[in-house]
Amino acid sequence: MEIIVLGSGTSHGVPMIACDCAVCRSSDPRDHRTRASVHVVMNGLRIQIDAAPEFRVQMLRESIPSIDLFILTHGHADHILGMDDLRRYCDLRDDGTLPVYCHEDGEERVRAIYPYALKPRGEVPDGYARFDLRRLPARLELPEGVIESLLLPHGRIDTLGLVFTEAGSGRRFAYYTDCKTVPPAARDLARGVDLLLLDGLRPSPHPTHLSIPEALAVAADLAPRQTFITHLNHAVAHCDEHIHLNNAGSFAYDGLKIML
Ligand SMILES: [Zn+2]
Ligand SMILES: [Zn+2]
Ligand SMILES: [Zn+2]
Repeated sequence: MEIIVLGSGTSHGVPMIACDCAVCRSSDPRDHRTRASVHVVMNGLRIQIDAAPEFRVQMLRESIPSIDLFILTHGHADHILGMDDLRRYCDLRDDGTLPVYCHEDGEERVRAIYPYALKPRGEVPDGYARFDLRRLPARLELPEGVIESLLLPHGRIDTLGLVFTEAGSGRRFAYYTDCKTVPPAARDLARGVDLLLLDGLRPSPHPTHLSIPEALAVAADLAPRQTFITHLNHAVAHCDEHIHLNNAGSFAYDGLKIML
């Protein structure tokens, strides 16, 4: 299984507009964080998780050739606003339609923002995005592996927490972005995974996201083989990773690729 971190930043991105703090002025490319998104290749199946406002730039940067299915973790702007650019990946499919998995809140927002992408083929010219909108079941079994999911609390809405288990290799990857807590069931689901990619917005507490210390406490409980913290804001410089994480994990960065 291969995991490509397309974006590792919070909703503002880093650098943030009109900020001259040291991290926003950093020359370290790992401090340049587009909005959070991940691409997973599981036994050759290409799964795209979320579409950040920089989706097009991210896909060009990583030369992603195709998408087999799309998962929207939740409907916040930093995760949904790149979805119109899925049009190219729809075009590349035989039926011009991309399976899009979401939960109730995500579906509501896709319907509000992209009504044209939900019309049957023939009603909208080819070249537009066309989604086959589906609810993600708790356990989606595919020939290439299994995708398990549950809801993580994220303020007034919930986020889909995702755990991938590759068929054959048995490798497991958990993506828990945008969450204030990781409830017991979500901990049990991700316990001992090979890779945990976890929300950790900033050092100080936040009402709807895990802070970095809170994320480290979750990671210590789940005991994954590798931990990366993502959805970072401009309060942390990549070079200070050891100060914030004390070797208990690493900061994700745009373009990070992990083979499991
Ligand atoms: Zn800044
Ligand atoms: Zn977000
Ligand atoms: Zn969010």
